[in-house]
Amino acid sequence: MATAPSREEILKAVERHIARRGGGVHVTAAGAADFSWQSLFDCQVLRSIERREETSRKDKGRRAGPARLPTYTDLDAYTVPPPAHPGLAKRYELVREGSLDELECPDCEDGRKDCGTCEGRGGRDCPRHVECAVCHGGPDTCWECDGTGHPRSRRARAAAASRPDAAEVERATCTRCRRPDVACPNCLGRRQTTCPACSGTGLAPCADCKGARRVRDEACGGTGRFTVWTQGVITHTPDREETKVSAPAFLRVRTDQWNHRTLCDVGAELPDFLDDEHRKLAAPLLAVKDGEILRRVTLRHLPLARVALRADPDRVYYAYPGPGGIVVHRRPSKERVTALVWAALTVVALVTVVALTVLR
Ligand SMILES: [Zn+2]
Ligand SMILES: [Zn+2]
Ligand SMILES: [Zn+2]
Ligand SMILES: [Zn+2]
Ligand SMILES: [Zn+2]
Repeated sequence: MATAPSREEILKAVERHIARRGGGVHVTAAGAADFSWQSLFDCQVLRSIERREETSRKDKGRRAGPARLPTYTDLDAYTVPPPAHPGLAKRYELVREGSLDELECPDCEDGRKDCGTCEGRGGRDCPRHVECAVCHGGPDTCWECDGTGHPRSRRARAAAASRPDAAEVERATCTRCRRPDVACPNCLGRRQTTCPACSGTGLAPCADCKGARRVRDEACGGTGRFTVWTQGVITHTPDREETKVSAPAFLRVRTDQWNHRTLCDVGAELPDFLDDEHRKLAAPLLAVKDGEILRRVTLRHLPLARVALRADPDRVYYAYPGPGGIVVHRRPSKERVTALVWAALTVVALVTVVALTVLR
């Protein structure tokens, strides 16, 4: 774990870095450099939150499950072991002492009840006969008697016999007037046929009970009873929070020299390596939460310095403790980046102007 290097140590490291590249800037001279700390920080809080809840339960049928659960008399006083680690979720199901009971279903007998659709009749009233689908009970029922059984007068019979299609269409013997080849082949002169829905019985079977009159009671699952009890549930749920100060996106910082500390107690002293700014960031995350039974606070910190030189406004230097001493990174300054972008845009504009001039 690294102790924070001093301002002088950082400036000397930057000076060595510049000298290795052939520069000769005197970084440590008074007023030569703008120095600031931009240290990295990461605070992760992992808690275990405990909740206790009592609910009334009512399940279909005879339930053996609740009888096998542990019982309690006062849910708040019931003790369960804390989780081995705040990241572990756990759920304890309990039954209040003496609350387990079995009730008969009030709406059925042994799980069966009258069919609601047919009100226990097994079906619905239905006409025994329906109109013939071929002749519709009209003039084609029987060319001789119209389905009445009384033959027509001789003159009417002559007119009917002159039908052009009379010889081509299949006709049957009429069951009413007994004449051959005059009746509708489907109803044989009766005008009606037996109803297919009730097969002529006058009662069409119920679509729900198929005529059985009784159906399964879904409310009790066809068992005729319910199991009731008061359930107590104790849960341990992980709760994560984090706050951090990250490195600038253009800077890749090695993580092996971070200061690192794990705290497990509420109110534990924060480690000395933290800046005041980072203590303020962490404070709101460290307050005790409702239901908190366990916590693990992980704090990481890396001193990072930014150095800008008056003599070289085009660059900035970042320095931090690394495995073999202070690591220095050189980056173009914001002014330098802006100037480069403008230069690039100017080139694009010039090329465009030249190209347009040439192409005219
Ligand atoms: Zn007839
Ligand atoms: Zn017919
Ligand atoms: Zn019918
Ligand atoms: Zn029914
Ligand atoms: Zn029932």
